Amino acid sequence: MTPATFIDEDKLHALLKKTSAPPPGDVADVLRKGRELKGLAPEEAAMLINVSDPDLINEIFDAASYIKNAIYGDRLVFFAPLYLSNYCVNDCAYCGFHAGNPAPRKKLTMAEIREQVGFLTEMGHKRLLLESGEDMRNNPIEYILDAIDAIYSVKNGKGEIRRVNVNIAATTVENYRSLKGKGIGTYQLFQESYHRQTYESTHNGPKGNYLRQLYALDNAFDGGIDDVGMGVLFGLYDWRFEVLGLISHAAYLSDTFGIGPHTISVPRLRPAHSVTMTPPAPVSDNDFLKLIAILRIAVPYTGMIITTRERPEIREKAFRIGITQASAASSTAPGGFGKKRSKEADQFELSDKRSLEEMTVSVMKQGFTPSFCTACYRRNRTGVAFMDLAKPGDIQEFCGPNSILTLMEYMEDNASPESRYLGMEVINKSLEGIDNASVRKQTEEKLARIRRGERDLYF
Ligand code: SAM
Ligand code: SF4
Repeated sequence: MTPATFIDEDKLHALLKKTSAPPPGDVADVLRKGRELKGLAPEEAAMLINVSDPDLINEIFDAASYIKNAIYGDRLVFFAPLYLSNYCVNDCAYCGFHAGNPAPRKKLTMAEIREQVGFLTEMGHKRLLLESGEDMRNNPIEYILDAIDAIYSVKNGKGEIRRVNVNIAATTVENYRSLKGKGIGTYQLFQESYHRQTYESTHNGPKGNYLRQLYALDNAFDGGIDDVGMGVLFGLYDWRFEVLGLISHAAYLSDTFGIGPHTISVPRLRPAHSVTMTPPAPVSDNDFLKLIAILRIAVPYTGMIITTRERPEIREKAFRIGITQASAASSTAPGGFGKKRSKEADQFELSDKRSLEEMTVSVMKQGFTPSFCTACYRRNRTGVAFMDLAKPGDIQEFCGPNSILTLMEYMEDNASPESRYLGMEVINKSLEGIDNASVRKQTEEKLARIRRGERDLYF
């Protein structure tokens, strides 16, 4: 007997069937509710999933853009992944780090971690996502905890990492508590697939336990981590089902812990060394953008992350319809920054290989304000405190000015003279957009202090 969980597969399939031909009037009602920033129930999301008329799909995109703007404005937060170790005991069918891959393994020493962080801070990064394979012997929790200390210890002139988010295998409440104690930002763990049979046939090793993965974020909450990130590896199973799985999981967390997920990630399966699997349920570019828009409407107060797995042109479209955070200038190999390494060490292939500077310039030209802000968790605006602010849109009071301040730091410390010119235009325009005169004045004062050499000023 399969134990009951918050994922009721029969119910989700039935919802998709029941809404297979949604009347346009009902779709319009759902979109109207979405624009009120109230989120959607799984049944309402299922209706949008089943929309096939191109005009109605455009209305879904319009509603998603509206919501993105209303809650997050034009900001886009950048981060980079930092891979510590590709030792892994699991044999996930899609991953270049799978145990059966005979390629040599690499685990960074603390000195190598500090060197990698040096390369990243030199580029201008302030946020990292720490990644590692699962291997209790080679990558025990003590190693991960030491690595976090090593990352935060690097002060590179004016550069430093101010927020370390963590994406490591499901672990114990005690280990989550230790991670929280090291000052991590978000703990991310992807369900990969909410469809149990697909999950179990794709994973071998401790990660093969569907329920361990499904309830890992509960354990993270129990360990005191109140910002958690979820995701699905799109391409493993029908995306329509997976979107309902994500929405159900988000609702479950919100009902159980009083806090929804801080972020949702939308990785799509990529080719990887020694991996023969091709996506069993490929997601087309159009469907990929549609699912991002539907998630934006369904879970409006949750950040959404897109990585360099995706091509620049897809990323640009995705920024408009819901994405709030993007990785930039990534490597998926331990030790991959600063030098050329063999492709064998990569977890998977990337599609967007632009530098952080190229990425920053590109998004500014598209009308976005790049942000390197890390203020919220350092001001204890996490969990319920964050959600309380985010829900009425009040977070904009902080995020807008903070994005300008961190962009100014980037312009002063990392940008080339050509992008600095564009950056100053963006900063000035964003300043004008701050409605509250007192906040605008304080932001101007802080900007002047940054230009005089002070750093890390934030609201
Ligand atoms: N080992 C940990 C785990 O499995 O949870 C850490 C995460 S792993 C370094 C980061 C994520 O990369 C995985 O959760 C998976 O969704 C994704 N991933 C693995 N192989 C991939 C591939 N070939 N294409 C795209 N994403 C992939
Ligand atoms: Fe290991 Fe994670 Fe890759 Fe699976 S996805 S093989 S657990 S690194």
